[in-house]
Amino acid sequence: MSFWCERVWLPGDALAGAPGGAMAGAPGGAMAGAPGDVLAGAPGGAVAGAPGGAEAGAPGGVVESVRVEVAEGRIVGVEPGVPASGGDVRLGGVVLPGFANAHSHAFHRALRGRTHADGGSFWTWRQGMYALAAALTPERYERLARAVFAEMALGGTTAVGEFHYVHHRADGTPYPAAEGGPNAMAEALRSAARHAGVHLTLLDTCYLHGGLGTTRVDAAGVGPERHKPLAPEQARFGDGTVEAWARRVDALRAAWADDDRVLVGAAAHSVRAVAPPELAAVARWAREAGAPLHVHLSEQPGENEAALAAFGVTPTRLLHDAGALGPGTTAVHAVHLTDADVALLGASGTGVCLCPTTERDLADGIAPGLRLLRAGSPLSVGTDQHVGADVLAEARGVEEHERLATGRRGAFDPATLVELATSAGHAALGRPLAGRIAVGAPADLVAVRLDTVRTAGIDPAQVVLVAGAADVSDVVAGGEIVVRGGEHRAGDVARMLAEAIEETWSAAESLAVGATVAPRTDS
Ligand SMILES: [Zn+2]
Repeated sequence: MSFWCERVWLPGDALAGAPGGAMAGAPGGAMAGAPGDVLAGAPGGAVAGAPGGAEAGAPGGVVESVRVEVAEGRIVGVEPGVPASGGDVRLGGVVLPGFANAHSHAFHRALRGRTHADGGSFWTWRQGMYALAAALTPERYERLARAVFAEMALGGTTAVGEFHYVHHRADGTPYPAAEGGPNAMAEALRSAARHAGVHLTLLDTCYLHGGLGTTRVDAAGVGPERHKPLAPEQARFGDGTVEAWARRVDALRAAWADDDRVLVGAAAHSVRAVAPPELAAVARWAREAGAPLHVHLSEQPGENEAALAAFGVTPTRLLHDAGALGPGTTAVHAVHLTDADVALLGASGTGVCLCPTTERDLADGIAPGLRLLRAGSPLSVGTDQHVGADVLAEARGVEEHERLATGRRGAFDPATLVELATSAGHAALGRPLAGRIAVGAPADLVAVRLDTVRTAGIDPAQVVLVAGAADVSDVVAGGEIVVRGGEHRAGDVARMLAEAIEETWSAAESLAVGATVAPRTDS
């Protein structure tokens, strides 16, 4: 199959090389980007004002009239400056690599536009989230996630990192074999992603405790329990022990080994939910599996205060001491950091996934994005609780937040923002070859219209600072055409969303009838 593109965003090394030379390169060239290289190399060189941008990691840019040849889901040829031929699928506007949504909790989508009536806080938002989580079953979650992943695909997402923690039945017991077995929920997400046409990295989340206590241990390292047990509404998140978590995830990896559209990675929910020895065990599992490890980090000041009270150190330092930082790790949010935290994350090459629309929505604060990048942390983006499902908006939000925080424009140039949304995000999801329109990469393409009321008249090279999900016309994921002319192959996605969300809330409300939930004022 071949696609003829009016304009294509090509990676910097393809632009810098002799015409044809870099692009005709054997897959080996692309594979030189082992995960570490991609993570460490790409974004740094492209920072505005950083010298040396002409080599590997040079900014990408727009080239006209390009044919992209695809076979078996991969790009096998990139030919610029050629006219369309009869057999080509034509893609207008500007074609970018597929977007990576590096941090998602699919079911949170059902909270969109329902949590603003009385202001509330992160913690009251979380109570609504728990009510919703209680209503999920594998069947219901499959329908909801199918709609949510389809909405993401409409906006150009071709790979999603699903930070998945609703593992078990509501009382915390595993689903029996007759109901899909202990990984029934993960299987529901795999099915949903397949129907929606997106690649899935399932970040299977270890979630063992209900929050931090506030009692510091004594000098000998013994003392009162620092972590509380799971609350009843958290019971279905927990596997009991880190060993039981690892056994379940090992089984999932084995079951999915032959499916090249999915990957299994690890997540530790947070230092609130996973104690230091358990963090070390999860990190060890991820290293041995060669799988990405994600962890929520310092989204709210409350987490820092609780960690300092219980352990005398910041959450970042706890992760460091547990051996959980490094190039295979992605910290999510990283909003409230000390200078020492930024240095630890950067020096270890730990990635950071920013979720600007969520961080605005939940009044989290502004992460030190540029400082992290300069310290050595590659950045990616995610839509997290899905106040929007628009990866372009997240990438643009990183620069917008930096402008508001510093009073200066242009910390992140357009090429760097495209990298955050594409190659850096895919690398954080264990897909180091993806997110580039280059030979050997997965055939993930997103056509963004330049003739809508939002994009008419813009410089195509600045499209990432302007366009949004509504401007995406066509999406190709792994060589499959998932979206064509703004229509998802699954049909009416708004209707799918409305029906699935209505069904889930109806179930949540019927569960809540008669239930007495004591107000929780802690984390
Ligand atoms: Zn999250």
